Amino acid sequence: MAKAQEHKVSTKMIKAVRGTRDLLPPETALWNFVETTVRDVFRAYNFQEIRTPLFEETALFARGVGEETDIVAKEMYTWQDRGRAASEKGQSLTLRPEATAGIVRAYIENKMWDRGLNKLYLLGPMFRRERPQKGRYRQFYQIDAEIIGPSSAGSESPARDAELLEMLATLLDRLGIANWNLQLNSVGCPNDRANFNEALRRALEPVKDRMCVDCQRRAVTNPLRVFDCKVPEDQPIIEKLPRISQFLDEGCRTHFEAVQAILTKVGVPFSLNDRLVRGLDYYTRTAFEFTHGALGAQNAILGGGRYDGLSEALGGPAAPGIGFAIGEDRLVMSLQENAPAGSVLRKPDVYVAPMAGMNGDAARLARELRRHDLVVELGDDAFRLKKSFEAATKAGAKYILIVGENEVNTDVFTLKNLATGEQFAVPRAQLSAKILGLI
Ligand code: AMP
Repeated sequence: MAKAQEHKVSTKMIKAVRGTRDLLPPETALWNFVETTVRDVFRAYNFQEIRTPLFEETALFARGVGEETDIVAKEMYTWQDRGRAASEKGQSLTLRPEATAGIVRAYIENKMWDRGLNKLYLLGPMFRRERPQKGRYRQFYQIDAEIIGPSSAGSESPARDAELLEMLATLLDRLGIANWNLQLNSVGCPNDRANFNEALRRALEPVKDRMCVDCQRRAVTNPLRVFDCKVPEDQPIIEKLPRISQFLDEGCRTHFEAVQAILTKVGVPFSLNDRLVRGLDYYTRTAFEFTHGALGAQNAILGGGRYDGLSEALGGPAAPGIGFAIGEDRLVMSLQENAPAGSVLRKPDVYVAPMAGMNGDAARLARELRRHDLVVELGDDAFRLKKSFEAATKAGAKYILIVGENEVNTDVFTLKNLATGEQFAVPRAQLSAKILGLI
């Protein structure tokens, strides 16, 4: 009995963990298309890539993202590492739930202020223990960019906010995402926020008992977070609350107006949304989100903003910065609607089909063609010709090239268009040029 059970357990199919998934071809072609476009566009704005570890000390996120945020309060994958000795307790470590804290940690640790203004981007997976649904995963991917540096390098300037936003508009246009909508707000500086918080707390006091449990907690600990609430019954109450726009000091108001003026000048449309306060505590001044109609409830493709106080909160020098994180999963979902993966995938240009005993010669020919940047699928001499044609068609190849003894001896090969049946006899030396000319 025990043996039978053991057997049963050992043959149970293992599935991907809830909230994680495999990205399979041809969809991965769409991911590559996105990432190549991102790199091209970001390069034009002189951004450079940074890669930080997938896990960090837990304290980094507790401090950098904020204890009170949903991310830190309930969504992080945290574990106690083993110490050097078996008896020793190790550090508390966490899989990164977002990129900015790690990048700012790297900025401080590597004294990157010596480089002046840093324009950095990062592509990679993030981890949050959220309830999975369409467009929401526990391992998801972000495209993140940050402009950070000392004030003397101009990191605080509204010109940087506008440049970053204009870059995003360019990226979305280049990717073919139509109908995006830029929502813009200023969340002021810590002083404005303190006044605003106080006003919010007062306004919430008489009404908070009628709100959801999360809002009741937020009303006491961090009233600003009330604006994150999605519970429909709470919305009429939230609508009547004071707005941050009434609390901006002179400096913040001028900064915000300057950002808007540049965006107008460069022709990037936006709408003001003073309910947009973002989920993270370190944001100051400009806050923004790009939404896209096609995504339904999960319609935020990306969000970002300024975080002028973050470096200091992490024990570094003053280093104003602004950045954003694009949800790559959602971006790809939006793209899929009008650009199916097949449209960006390069199928084999040619299928090389060896006749019996010709695997070596076929491999040699395929090697020559691949050197000329052709996409080549190589067959097997165990296949009969009919099976080779079927395999070539299944692979989506445009042409098939037969490699038989006769062809190798005469050095002239038959190239056949699989769709039209059109045929060419081509000398070996001209093969790659001929195919490149045809495709
Ligand atoms: P945030 O770091 O929370 O501002 O998120 C930035 C972007 O990442 C969002 O606009 C989403 O597009 C994406 N995102 C956040 N959480 C998830 C998730 N669990 N699954 C997929 N995408 C996500």
